Amino acid sequence: MSLPVYLDHASTTPVDPRVATEMAACLSLGGTFGNPSSDGHVYGERARECVEAARARVAAAVGAEPAEVIWTCGATEADNLAIFGLSAHAHGRGRHIVTARTEHKAVLDPCRELERRGWQVTYLQPDRRGLVDPARLAEALRADTVLVSLMHVNNETGVSQDIAAYAAVCERHGGARLHVDAAQSFGKCPLDFGASGADLMSLSAHKAYGPKGAGALLVSRRRGVRIEARQFGGGQERGLRSGTIATHQVVGMGAAFEIAAAEWQSECRRLAVLRERLWHGLESQGGVLRNGAAPDVVAQILNVSFEGVEGESLLAAVAPEVAVSRGSACASASGEASYVLRALGRDQRLAESSLRFSLGRFTTERDIERTVAAVGGALAHLRRIAGACTTAR
Ligand SMILES: *Cc1c(COP(=O)(O)O)cnc(C)c1O
Repeated sequence: MSLPVYLDHASTTPVDPRVATEMAACLSLGGTFGNPSSDGHVYGERARECVEAARARVAAAVGAEPAEVIWTCGATEADNLAIFGLSAHAHGRGRHIVTARTEHKAVLDPCRELERRGWQVTYLQPDRRGLVDPARLAEALRADTVLVSLMHVNNETGVSQDIAAYAAVCERHGGARLHVDAAQSFGKCPLDFGASGADLMSLSAHKAYGPKGAGALLVSRRRGVRIEARQFGGGQERGLRSGTIATHQVVGMGAAFEIAAAEWQSECRRLAVLRERLWHGLESQGGVLRNGAAPDVVAQILNVSFEGVEGESLLAAVAPEVAVSRGSACASASGEASYVLRALGRDQRLAESSLRFSLGRFTTERDIERTVAAVGGALAHLRRIAGACTTAR
């Protein structure tokens, strides 16, 4: 039996073969396996060169300076370092943070932890398009606000927010730093750290055809951002993130980011066509609602609510043919169905009966046809059963 079609790229992507080749050259004897912090021999020097070349590639891909790139093991660690590191530095000026209910758990959970430590956190609600309105942000800022954390592209719906507008609001306020979780946006839409006006930005390699276990926090030098370390040891990464740098991982991230920066526009054009084909195929089944639409949503993501079925059952029914994800994993710690989908006007039931289809670099037309057929079949079957149950009752 062949494997199901993979349409869950928003949760992770396969490593691009070009990336894997570069990573493999950093592992074994004869390769660049040395410790990048080792002084005085060629093994360390070569590894250091690879790490710095990767830093320059990531920086160039996202409009940052190489010295602004702090390697981490992913966006979760970058989010934690940004939130705890900034709050530890700024707590003397205030103990209030503004974020949104629709953020990733890697932002929400650190905020909850700070609340347990006596901080106050305001959780903004998105508007009818699923976006946080900059005017709402402006209203939420207080004299003691030291940090705003708002994401670029939402992982559930693919809606893309105007981070430059948030930066402008923070700039007017004067005291609040802006952290942006951009794990889901790089490679899917324009991203320029320097031009955005953001102070801190989290990146992940494995959402952009790089390896899992690699990421970075961008810390703006131009804007003079200071944070405190959370981890202590060898003093790597300007003391902000001690620990031996995983050469193969950061080399993989550098290669992946360089490729994505060169290819994302043509990739998005191709995937937008496939995504619309998928949508039209699903729409023709009837009782199908699209959550979020162009121009707010990136080309890779299609979030759909299905009337008359449970998301859980539909996911299980299509699993042999297509790997997708629930569109409405509980987005808030409160356990309610997705806030974004609720904000888009879906009731609890529809929010719970949604799936997120996320396309990627290696998705083909054939994959889309197979998906439409599988979902169509499962939908008809589940609705027939549901109908039979209702009649029996
Ligand atoms: C995947 C993701 C993360 C977590 O990234 P890791 O590199 O897996 O730790 C954080 N935020 C968003 C928006 C994501 O999509």
